[in-house]
Amino acid sequence: MAARLLDGKSLAAQVRSEVKESVVRLARRGIVPGLAVILVGDDAASRVYVRNKTRACEETGVRSLQIDLPASVSQDALLRRIAEINADPALHGILVQLPLPSHIDAWEVMRVVAPEKDVDGFHLRNLGALVAGAPGFVPCTPAGIMRLLRHAEVPLAGRRAVIVGRSGTVGKPLALLLLQADATVTVCHSRTVDLARETLQADILVAAAGRPKLVSAGMVKPGACVVDVGINRLPDGSLAGDVDFHRVNDVAGWLTPVPGGVGPMTIAMLLENCIRAAST
Ligand code: NDP
Repeated sequence: MAARLLDGKSLAAQVRSEVKESVVRLARRGIVPGLAVILVGDDAASRVYVRNKTRACEETGVRSLQIDLPASVSQDALLRRIAEINADPALHGILVQLPLPSHIDAWEVMRVVAPEKDVDGFHLRNLGALVAGAPGFVPCTPAGIMRLLRHAEVPLAGRRAVIVGRSGTVGKPLALLLLQADATVTVCHSRTVDLARETLQADILVAAAGRPKLVSAGMVKPGACVVDVGINRLPDGSLAGDVDFHRVNDVAGWLTPVPGGVGPMTIAMLLENCIRAAST
């Protein structure tokens, strides 16, 4: 039997319509939520992500200001630009598209973004709040995954969750959110010995490695919920996730498609964070 599809596209559309309602409510208080999006350099994938984010802003009534800086921009100049946005009351959120050129220290950049405008949830204060279970901005991709799981009523408490990938933007924050939801969490990475032995234990399996078709059907426990975070551009130009969708579809109980799964939810959570930043 085919897995139930975790349809991020339609859930994200629902979130966007709630965001639109919030924009109308904020307008009654004279507030137009504003997001500054900083793009450094000319990475093709980053350009696409930024375009998708600014489009979603336009569609929902969140004002977006895109700031394009050359790859050669100095770290000081970038930090100064962020400081200006921090001081601008019309801009409630700041997003610095990653990755940054190698001469720029991304942690230093994240440190300078005002925590109350840090709609990506990457400032150490927000990451610390996540560790402590305190309120703060939660990184958008992990937040979107949790929303998808909750919406589909995937049981989490007491279940085994296995995450493949330990990045600071996806794997690690997601591990904390799944722990908060009372799952028993394992985080795998490139040095994990016998990945399949780990993934076969998973009631919830999240693939966030950036390796096309890393997760095969033989690595999935029958009935498991499989979330595919990966976005990989194949040599023929097509997009693929980290999961062998067609084969895993016969084994899993739930499955996210790529595209149309986690990606749209990431953007939807960004919009929600912008509304929250503008509301406080
Ligand atoms: P990173 O490259 O920062 O992290 C990848 C992680 O996967 C690392 O922890 C790495 O291990 C681990 N890994 C790599 N290869 C293997 C392997 N063969 N076996 C086990 N673990 C492995 O990537 P991100 O977390 O930023 O992104 C992951 C994927 O998700 C990418 O495809 C990215 O494009 C996509 N993405 C999608 C988003 C969306 O909205 N849908 C948002 C963000 C990312 P180690 O730490 O040991 O190197």
